[in-house]
Amino acid sequence: MMQIFIPLNFLGFVYREMKGALANIEKMFSLLSVKPGVEDLSGATSLKVTEGRIEFQDVQFAYKGNRQILKGVNFGVESRQKVAIVGASGAGKSTLFKLLFRFYDTDAGVISIDGQDIRGVSQESLRQVIGVVPQDAVLFNQSIRDNVRYGRVNATDEEVDEAIRHAHLSDFVQQLPEGADTLVGERGLKLSGGEKQRVAIARALLKKPPIMIFDEATSSLDSRSERGIVTSLREIAREQTTLVIAHRLSTIVDADRILVMEQGRIVEQGSHSQLLADGGHYAVLWRMQQQESGAETLTAAVSAP
Ligand code: ATP
Repeated sequence: MMQIFIPLNFLGFVYREMKGALANIEKMFSLLSVKPGVEDLSGATSLKVTEGRIEFQDVQFAYKGNRQILKGVNFGVESRQKVAIVGASGAGKSTLFKLLFRFYDTDAGVISIDGQDIRGVSQESLRQVIGVVPQDAVLFNQSIRDNVRYGRVNATDEEVDEAIRHAHLSDFVQQLPEGADTLVGERGLKLSGGEKQRVAIARALLKKPPIMIFDEATSSLDSRSERGIVTSLREIAREQTTLVIAHRLSTIVDADRILVMEQGRIVEQGSHSQLLADGGHYAVLWRMQQQESGAETLTAAVSAP
């Protein structure tokens, strides 16, 4: 009996570890289809984060054999700043994140964290300090609480529940038949895009890395989900250096700085009010989105019974 029990127990452990690792990386940017393209240098050191400052210096990059995607990107993010990146589809926003996570090495230029070139540090130590909230979080067929726990597998129930609160999921969870023990995922309750993203936020809050990258869901969110995400984002940004790819400009008006990308370059940067005053690409995008949301509100009001 003992002989059977130990291997099964061990297999269970391996399975849990693998799932933990998967959730940590969060299948970001279809990660599973991306083969690791970089290796640690011999003598790679462990990244030491004191402030969480990020710097991109003249970063250039092309996917193997393809056209140049990043054409000399320069920006810095100070400790605990919230910086948002906006721009048309294909401008290169996700590519910046992939390079920061070192799925690929830059062709030219340097990315550093607290003054350490990320090419010189072990990938494990790099990925440990970066939390990712992907657009489409992977949920397992387990309870909400267990899904959140993948952020830090040895967290206590109290810590998990606190992360759920901070991710503004508590109201939602309280309405569920078995609260945080309700099963979600394919065989359980289906969550909306916004709810799934808040589970991912709760995971990330539990992990508490000094740097957080947040890829805002493009799927349409009802205004309540959107407000929930905005407040949880604020929660994250209070203590961590936060980089956000934003699609709805209304979610990032309070960012310390907004970078506007176009065809692999940062073409404008500043706060929301500075960029509006400048009257450039951002101001045009903002007006368009305001008109769209005004039109939606009007349509909703007209079609209401
Ligand atoms: P979106 O808002 O649509 O997510 P984005 O600004 O994040 O767009 P990226 O995903 O960074 O844009 O893509 C920039 C360009 O790089 C696009 O033209 C895209 O097709 C190309 N690209 C992305 N991933 C790869 C890849 N693995 N191999 C080759 N080209 C890629």
